[in-house]
Amino acid sequence: MPSQKLKIAIQKSGRLHDDSIKLLQECGIDLQNGLNKLKTEASNFPLEVYFLRDDDIPQYVEDEVADVGIVGENVILEKEKQVQVVEQLGFGKCRLSIAIPKDQEYQSIHDLHGKRVATSYPHIVAQYLASQQVKAEIHEISGSVEIAPSIGLADAICDLVSSGSTLFMNGLREVETILHSQAVLISHNRLHAYTSQLLEQLRFRIQAVKKARH
Ligand code: ATP
Ligand code: ZN
Repeated sequence: MPSQKLKIAIQKSGRLHDDSIKLLQECGIDLQNGLNKLKTEASNFPLEVYFLRDDDIPQYVEDEVADVGIVGENVILEKEKQVQVVEQLGFGKCRLSIAIPKDQEYQSIHDLHGKRVATSYPHIVAQYLASQQVKAEIHEISGSVEIAPSIGLADAICDLVSSGSTLFMNGLREVETILHSQAVLISHNRLHAYTSQLLEQLRFRIQAVKKARH
């Protein structure tokens, strides 16, 4: 018996958490009781909310543990899971950029040939470098990527940027933008008829909220 609720996965804490909750609330969904839990239910819409690490959300949706999720496009592209983007949400905007020490000379991406690039997005970076015929060594690190050049771990980094202040504070300058990203609503493509209807209702409300925000 399929669940009679739509199950949505959102970030437990971090940059997408507050805006994800705010979006659901502006859709008229009441989550008053349970924002501090790992799982909660809306009181006025058949919706169950799971709070998870953003990196895990595509996998949970692919595995149908959740029907839908809110996550950055950057995570979808890195993980390559079988999920579809249902709606762009207009928040969590950032770009994935290559940066180098600020006094380093730079003409083009080909300057990275034979160099070491530190990133948490090895897959996207590898694809990009290959598309530019640049052979560089990719070092995957999971956090604090921006300190890699100053500690001698890498010659360049590829990381998410919004204002650029973190790069600046670490003596780095942005030289290439690989992709632009924002938060998106994703789903798996084996929704049952009833949950699919619920998703359509949610989507309708999200579109109304987006219009009202313009
Ligand atoms: P988690 O604990 O859930 O794994 P995290 O540390 O990986 O969290 P956050 O830093 O909270 O992730 O970022 C979540 C998402 O917010 C990113 O994947 C990206 O889509 C978006 N984002 C927007 N601006 C930025 C930014 N300046 N730096 C990093 N991420 C940003
Ligand atoms: Zn994460």
